[in-house]
Amino acid sequence: MHWLPIHGTNVYFVHSAKSWVLIDAGFPGSGRIIAETAGRLCGAAGRPGSILITHGHPDHVGSAVGLAAAWNVPILAPAAEMPFIDGTALYPEPLVAWLARVLPRRAMAALVRDSDLGDAVLPFDPQAGVPSLLEWVCVPTPGHTPGHVAFFRPGDRTLIAGDAVLTMPWASRLGGGGVGWLWDLVRRTPRLSGPPTVVTCDWREAAASVVALADLDPWLLATGHGTPFVGRHAAPALRAFAARVAAAPFG
Ligand SMILES: [Zn+2]
Repeated sequence: MHWLPIHGTNVYFVHSAKSWVLIDAGFPGSGRIIAETAGRLCGAAGRPGSILITHGHPDHVGSAVGLAAAWNVPILAPAAEMPFIDGTALYPEPLVAWLARVLPRRAMAALVRDSDLGDAVLPFDPQAGVPSLLEWVCVPTPGHTPGHVAFFRPGDRTLIAGDAVLTMPWASRLGGGGVGWLWDLVRRTPRLSGPPTVVTCDWREAAASVVALADLDPWLLATGHGTPFVGRHAAPALRAFAARVAAAPFG
């Protein structure tokens, strides 16, 4: 597995059998660097079997459509994320609620239309395993978004957690909040945070998802933002964070 951070968001190149899969696709405009990196890391053709997404936020699907077209591969999305990436609805998150108060109705309608990623997207059922990645299981981790999923490889306890938990300081109602996070961010202190406050849909579910991920005991904790935690300290750090979240879920 390879990790590429671009503009503050992580994408992962995951090999399985003779093929590989791109997990998450960065902000819009990241397609060229993702494709070039894939060409260097993943063989001459540099073309994956598919693009898998943890959830449909623009910093995770921004370059998915262009890459899917260039590679002629599908974008596979958790089924419960579909309404938010097929032009049906916007996420029930504080940022959208605020936009709805300040923007005219037709601007909001345009945002809904623009959320449509088009025909390249196919839904998958998280209960039925991970498409193209036989050694992996899909872990439903709703909260940050309704259909958010994490991906876990039990064989070596590799966890790709999306935005269910972050390996960097950030403002979150699930720990990481208060004034300390900004100082830690400036000093680049490694630490765990919950999903970002303004773009998280359901805090009760988000808290339960952190606890569920801690139960996996990951050796490698690779998230949507921040430097992955790897080695013996990863699982205890996540367990301690989950215990804090469970004890006082909303800070
Ligand atoms: Zn997100």
